[in-house]
Amino acid sequence: MNSKSSQISGLHHITAISDNAQRNLDFYSLVLGLRLVKKTVNFDDPGTYHFYYGNEEGTPGTILTFFPWEGIGQGYPGTGMATEIGYSVNTGSLEFWEERFKKFHVRVKEKMERFGETHLRFADPDGLDLTLVEPTIADPRKGWETKDIHSENALKGFCQVTLTLREMEKTARILTDIFGYRLLSQEANRYRFITDAISTANIVDLLEEPDGKSGHNTAGTNHHIAFRVKDESIQMALRERILENGLLPTPKINRDYFYSVYFRESGGVLFEIATDNPGFTVDEPLKELGSHLQLPRQFEPDRKIIEEILPKLK
Ligand code: ZN
Repeated sequence: MNSKSSQISGLHHITAISDNAQRNLDFYSLVLGLRLVKKTVNFDDPGTYHFYYGNEEGTPGTILTFFPWEGIGQGYPGTGMATEIGYSVNTGSLEFWEERFKKFHVRVKEKMERFGETHLRFADPDGLDLTLVEPTIADPRKGWETKDIHSENALKGFCQVTLTLREMEKTARILTDIFGYRLLSQEANRYRFITDAISTANIVDLLEEPDGKSGHNTAGTNHHIAFRVKDESIQMALRERILENGLLPTPKINRDYFYSVYFRESGGVLFEIATDNPGFTVDEPLKELGSHLQLPRQFEPDRKIIEEILPKLK
């Protein structure tokens, strides 16, 4: 598993839980300026939306997805969870974001340094923890532009994700021995892992909290994180490696926009391995991404009922 092409290529997407759908849509598309690249339903619960936000094409490594479960109740982050999502921005744009967050009454937590990067930590309306990062190496990706967020300030996609764990050793071994990551550096109880297979969305921080309380996985918390592979043959090879390491991956599941394999890693975080193919233009042209409610084939006969159940969006 040493050749780059047979490795994980960083993050594919992160999936989180929110409460109110409209509030989630307004925050991520209007306040943060991400593109809604797909509006569909939870394939296991078609009365709930599944929103995908990303860059123009919904490139893997830029995709944050939500299940908005109305009235699910407030969760809290803790051990066994992804606890912070990091988006990269251009150096110098944090001032723009501080102003913007003031204007939209966004809960800003702090501005701080970590591994030589400047962070602006904040929370979404459900309390989900995010951070905008000015990385030490400039991120070449172009973010989605909106009326009031031009490309120099736009969010480019993920640079990193933090997992909080009671004990990080076994999770670290999955990253290094199966996924091809290496330990880059350490600051106190934060261990930074990186893969050289790709230059963006390629960092995972493990935050070790031996006495940490476990999280409660409802609104305002992350459900799972998905790692990226080029195609299903790499995915199936990795699935074998996961099995050999005593973990229990699911079979390959068709998610219409990618193929997925899930497994619970040793520290409690739900991991997914997702393919680049076929991508978000499989059922909508690039220009119209996110503008229609897309249903998987099995639910198409029930479209009328589903549309009635789903919350109305502005
Ligand atoms: Zn997923």
